[in-house]
Amino acid sequence: MKIPFVNLHPQYNECKKDIDSAIKNIIKNSDFITGPTVEKFEKAICDYTGAEACASIGSGTNALVCALRAVGVDECDTVWTVGHTFVSTTEAIVNVGARPVFIDIDEYYHMDLEQIKDFNPDCPPAAILFVDLYGQTPDIDKLKRFAKKYKIKLIEDAAQSFGSEYKGKKVGSLVDLTCFSFNPVKNLGAMGDAGAVTGNKILIDKVRMYRDHGRKTKFEYDTVGYNARIDNLQAVVIQEKLKKLDKWTKEKRKICQRYTKKLNGIVKTPKEAPWSYHTYYVYVIETPKGTRDKLQKFLKGKGISTNIHYKFPTHTTKAFKEYNWWPLPRTEYVCKNILSLPCYHTLTKQQQDYIIKNIKDFYAN
Ligand SMILES: *Cc1c(COP(=O)(O)O)cnc(C)c1O
Repeated sequence: MKIPFVNLHPQYNECKKDIDSAIKNIIKNSDFITGPTVEKFEKAICDYTGAEACASIGSGTNALVCALRAVGVDECDTVWTVGHTFVSTTEAIVNVGARPVFIDIDEYYHMDLEQIKDFNPDCPPAAILFVDLYGQTPDIDKLKRFAKKYKIKLIEDAAQSFGSEYKGKKVGSLVDLTCFSFNPVKNLGAMGDAGAVTGNKILIDKVRMYRDHGRKTKFEYDTVGYNARIDNLQAVVIQEKLKKLDKWTKEKRKICQRYTKKLNGIVKTPKEAPWSYHTYYVYVIETPKGTRDKLQKFLKGKGISTNIHYKFPTHTTKAFKEYNWWPLPRTEYVCKNILSLPCYHTLTKQQQDYIIKNIKDFYAN
């Protein structure tokens, strides 16, 4: 049996008619960037997430950049973040001229606020850029209490958590600004790069300025911005898929919870936080120390493709090593021992059982 790590074909097949006709319309009207198509998309994102305002962006990475600029982060500022994430999180901070400060993670792979050693309350960070890693949020109320006390802006890297909930409330209006990615493999995937920022209207108007060359109106350039607009083709594709998202998420959650039931005790299975509706962007297990690479190779031999999210913590990579201020033992341990299993709404019971059986076999010998 051959089981790919991701399989995007069923998503397209389930919305083929609507996607094809939406794309044809865009081409027929030569309606490629800006205008009513974008506004309609942004309204759809607001309706789904409950956010007051939304600025569509050309990628999740640029969503982070525009959000950091919109809350006023610039040179000389520090931004707290995590090293256990996709590189974009840190890249965005450095690209706006600020310095990332890495904080270790907790049992849910989230920034661990208990870990803040040597924090000098006289010079708090300008912002905290936290990550909803794998599809669930950290304890937002706890973060908010801390941020309010020290007047720190909160930005949520929600690239992996579109559709997730915190205490029954959708991700999108929980903190100052929320950044989404609609990269094809994310919970809600475009057919290319796309992203969005949600939040209150005042901040989102600033994000809109940054995404469009820093202009307020057509000829008024008020600040130095970027070209970070969404493609209308992507905007319509995402809207068609959005109609199916809740169904896909429900089916995916069932598969993940079944994995957990069957694999618990053999490997460390992901823990759903009590405040979370977890959307499982990826299903990640923690293998017994020192066995990850052998297990991955073994599964590959059985036709099962797996992945690692992520293999190297950002602070240890060549590009960001100057920000490697101190060791992050849990981050570094986790990156050596995690493995992501195939997980999508069309993974069959038979395929899942085959994966489970092989993991059991590997640890039985
Ligand atoms: C995917 C991802 C991004 C970047 O999104 P792109 O749309 O690919 O630019 C940022 N942060 C995290 C945590 C991600 O998983």
